[in-house]
Amino acid sequence: MKKTTDLNKIITVLTVLCVCTAVILSGLIGVYFMKKNSSVAFVSGADSPRASTTVKQTTSEVSTTEKSAESTTVASTQSTTVPVFSNNNTTSATVSTTQSTTQSTTLIPENERIVVNPEQELWNLVVVNAGREMPEGYVPELACVAGTSVKMDYRVAPWYDKMYYAAKRDGITLTPYSGYRSYERQKINYNNLTEKYMSRYSLSRAEAAAKAATVILPPGTSEHNLGLAMDICNTYDSFAGQKEFAWLTEHAHEYGFILRYTAEKQSVTGIVPEPWHWRYVGVEYAEKIKNSGLCLEEYLDSVGIAY
Ligand SMILES: [Zn+2]
Repeated sequence: MKKTTDLNKIITVLTVLCVCTAVILSGLIGVYFMKKNSSVAFVSGADSPRASTTVKQTTSEVSTTEKSAESTTVASTQSTTVPVFSNNNTTSATVSTTQSTTQSTTLIPENERIVVNPEQELWNLVVVNAGREMPEGYVPELACVAGTSVKMDYRVAPWYDKMYYAAKRDGITLTPYSGYRSYERQKINYNNLTEKYMSRYSLSRAEAAAKAATVILPPGTSEHNLGLAMDICNTYDSFAGQKEFAWLTEHAHEYGFILRYTAEKQSVTGIVPEPWHWRYVGVEYAEKIKNSGLCLEEYLDSVGIAY
């Protein structure tokens, strides 16, 4: 009788143990699957290739914008190639190694500038400069180039891509450094610099605006606002000595791009040499302009094309 009771006790204990083990195991399995599911949800939400690409592009867009603004500031404090208002003594040797930005030689008052039509038939030949501005607020249709978030006019972006990949095959990387800039962004940068000069040098608004125009082109007067120009690789004067520049000099016209601002033509364009700034005009005109040795304005005048 005692033996039977003992056996019953053992069976009961074993049963209890089995039930407990089963409960614990099923609990553990449940937790495992919950974790697995939640990590899958995390991957598809934020770390999927599509999502991470978007995040990356946004970041690079922001940093490009910041970089442009920063380089503008650097140039505004260090550039001494502007004779009238320059207040510091940086040597020209220093200037040649610092980052340069566009400098126009004259500021034409806003009410005296011609407003161009970016939608004209030969849209690829539109000229904006100190005396010719885009309509305020004009935004071209844009597209990203070469797998980056840098944008150009959607009709030009495929040509940049073609050039980029052709150069790549020759071992040259034509990093798109700065493409389209919005009218609004240009306006903010220009106004900020004008106000900075007003307080720093005790200038009137008109004087400060003229000084600012030597560093940042007034809004609407930059080819970057049109979406037809790209600063390639960097904005250092030393770019003229790089292999990327040599490649562009030899091949850019095959893809419709011309070097826009050279030392020889500074008196016509009003812009200091910019070896990094390449402007799209289309294959036909790029070849003609290159062979003519003229700058864009001179060429169009010589053949009687209105711009
Ligand atoms: Zn440029």
